[in-house]
Amino acid sequence: MKIDNVNKIVYVRQSWLNDMVICPERARLGIIRPEFRTGSDATIIGTAIHAGIESVLDGRSSEFGQMVNVVGDNYDILKQTNYKKTNIDEDMIPEYLEAMSLAFYDDILPKVELGGKVEHYFKVPLGVTIQDYAVWLEGTMDYIAPSGLIWDWKTSSRAYYIKDKQKSAIQPTVYGYAAKYEGLANGDITDFNYGIMVRSNPSKSQIGHITRTEGHYNWLKYFVRGAVGSCLKVGTDSEWFMNDSSTLCSSSWCSYWSICKGAFNTND
Ligand code: SF4
Repeated sequence: MKIDNVNKIVYVRQSWLNDMVICPERARLGIIRPEFRTGSDATIIGTAIHAGIESVLDGRSSEFGQMVNVVGDNYDILKQTNYKKTNIDEDMIPEYLEAMSLAFYDDILPKVELGGKVEHYFKVPLGVTIQDYAVWLEGTMDYIAPSGLIWDWKTSSRAYYIKDKQKSAIQPTVYGYAAKYEGLANGDITDFNYGIMVRSNPSKSQIGHITRTEGHYNWLKYFVRGAVGSCLKVGTDSEWFMNDSSTLCSSSWCSYWSICKGAFNTND
């Protein structure tokens, strides 16, 4: 969340709303200590695969070998950066990258309508005002097809349980709202696909289809009103509620571990 006090606008990203769900304190630290935010080995794998997919969709890679080279080059650069190590076996990563690239190229790409917008940045008003601040949504869609179908690429340790995502995933709602607002999605139902590549060799692919309608967008407005409203009311100077029961509360998965739970020598 970014607060523009001059123009009285609060900018909200879906990742921040997800942090609010996982652990509000993590969302607060994301606002006041952005310099602590680092990715993990899982993140750099995802970023490298995204770069390869982008090169296919924008026409720079016209065959699989070129995509794999883009993925590999990006991974080589990213692994020089500061990132958190999780339980992923580092020696296996090059294999995973190639297997996941193949899962995209052979299984998912044939189902993608080409000619759409790659890495589409949006900034749109949500139509909600909280304590004199207008709320805007901000983010980047991985891909939106000419038909208005939104795609998001995911690299994951396991397949998604799509029923849960349909019920409560925030990302398809935020992106669907933005696509509708910008006139990129047609009709009353917005379609969103997760294009998932499972981190294994061979990799499995999965396409998870999610739909969003006006009811979801009105729920988003209500949900954001609660999240942003309490933040504006409480302010960011003192701690918010902490949820250490999430699997993401660990040195591997939370960027703020060292200045939060990790500072208490609990050894877990
Ligand atoms: S260390 Fe745990 S409790 Fe603290 S911000 Fe991270 S997820 Fe929340």
